[in-house]
Amino acid sequence: MRYSQFLIPTLREDPAEAEVVSHKLMLRSGMIRKLAAGIYSTLPLGERVIQKTAQVVREEMNRAGAMEVTLPFVQPAELWHESGRWNVYGKELLRLKDRHNREFCLGPTHEEVITDLVRGVVSSYKQLPVNLYQIHVKFRDEIRPRFGVMRAREFIMKDAYSFDVNEKGAEVSYKRMYEAYSRIFERLGLKFRPVEADSGPIGGNFSHEFMVLAETGEDMIVTCSECDYAANTEKAEIKKPEKVDGSKENLLEMNRVETPNMRTIEEVTGFLKTEAKKLIKTLVFSSSDGPLVALVRGDHEINEVKLKNLLACNELELAEENLIEELTKAPRGFAGPVGLKDVKIVADYGLIGGTNMLTGGNEKDVHIINVNFDRDFTVKEFADIRLAEKGDACPRCGKSLSITRGIEVGHIFKLGTKYSKAMNAVYLDEEGKSIEMVMGCYGIGVGRTVAAAIEQSHDKDGIIFPAAIAPFTVIVVPVNTSDKAQMHIAEKIYQEFRDKGVDAIIDDRDERAGIKFNDADMVGIPFRVTVGKFAVRENSVDVKIRKTGEVRKFAVNDVVSAVIECI
Ligand SMILES: [Zn+2]
Repeated sequence: MRYSQFLIPTLREDPAEAEVVSHKLMLRSGMIRKLAAGIYSTLPLGERVIQKTAQVVREEMNRAGAMEVTLPFVQPAELWHESGRWNVYGKELLRLKDRHNREFCLGPTHEEVITDLVRGVVSSYKQLPVNLYQIHVKFRDEIRPRFGVMRAREFIMKDAYSFDVNEKGAEVSYKRMYEAYSRIFERLGLKFRPVEADSGPIGGNFSHEFMVLAETGEDMIVTCSECDYAANTEKAEIKKPEKVDGSKENLLEMNRVETPNMRTIEEVTGFLKTEAKKLIKTLVFSSSDGPLVALVRGDHEINEVKLKNLLACNELELAEENLIEELTKAPRGFAGPVGLKDVKIVADYGLIGGTNMLTGGNEKDVHIINVNFDRDFTVKEFADIRLAEKGDACPRCGKSLSITRGIEVGHIFKLGTKYSKAMNAVYLDEEGKSIEMVMGCYGIGVGRTVAAAIEQSHDKDGIIFPAAIAPFTVIVVPVNTSDKAQMHIAEKIYQEFRDKGVDAIIDDRDERAGIKFNDADMVGIPFRVTVGKFAVRENSVDVKIRKTGEVRKFAVNDVVSAVIECI
């Protein structure tokens, strides 16, 4: 490829619209351009990166036995009625009508379509298992699309769906996808962690997210320093404490104290000269099963996902002011468990053994000190309902957990028979009995993976792509294009790269060398071969390695094989 003929509209300045670094750099390097909110065109350079990423995904999916298909982007509403999701999916589902007034939607995901396809073409246990995937466009009408392709409305995704005869088979399919995903992100040259993820009360126990590690990631991941345990903070388990601190304190007399206008933990503990961990934080929730009170230590954070799973309720949210007042007879900020009636109280494990605690008095401007479990109030149960934190004990090995940031790029989970039941996707077993297929589904955000790769690896000069997905592996830069001898050597090296199957581009533009170097750095090409006056005079060229900034000298005749060795 010749730079002069290739469309790479780089920008010198950071675009104002971009909030995150991957978005900025994708715009600046000319990979994408915005068409509308959350909708982007991919330009030739971006397309090369997307295609290389997609190709690795495709190869590993094929190797794992999955078969590529293309499913329609426009989906009839009937299928979504069958699965029961038409009315519950919400506004992310972009619905439309055709000229006959029939209802359709733009596919945000393809469980319905694939289940419909498979029930139509698979009827016997002999045809199972099957795993079908596509690499295709999705549309989700995000309320606030942002971060460029990271949270776009229209995006490219690889989605796969497995169908098995039973649970055991589904587990084999799941494991195979887990391994394929690990190979994919390995091959893409990314630092990543598969983490245990929450899959909700109906999702079964198997769910993993694949996280690309990046300081700028919006997801928090809990990882163990000792073993390979990793989970997202929603899921990370905290074990019931075996030993309990503070249980040897004598129980003091409970007392009501005035705390005028002090609603926050900092205000109350500062005023009463105590620590946040001596406070019982009382949170009132409204749920589909009625009101609920959750207690966590003042220095801990509630984990609503765990609470929701514990209660196995469909809806759960922090209560509005009026419910708090109705239940506690006090405004927000003064709730406490003492004297609360007719409401279920759940307490976090962190409060086990808590002695002489501080909590709200269920009266405006009043807190209570020296509150004790069982003596002053009782809870229905103690459970794991808080967010894991740095320093918590690993649920596997007990060593200390740390928190890392990451970007979710893949998600695999077991669907069970949710769709096959709703949509009657059955097969006949050996005895001719009709049985529901057991499904799994497996996604990778392809554009998101590219953005995550950039978030993970960049510097002030631009993107640092791993060689596997870089738009070009090598750029050959003749310093002075009007010097015929230089150009001759540059062309020769470029041709040799091409002959050896290396994805190379020659920057044959009549531009200052500085501009060409900046552009090569910006678009993240891993190797830059600079052909300057020493190429002519001393038969030597420089190779700059983008990742480390290191520059090495090679003889003109050796440079191609030397670079190939480094790739
Ligand atoms: Zn561990």
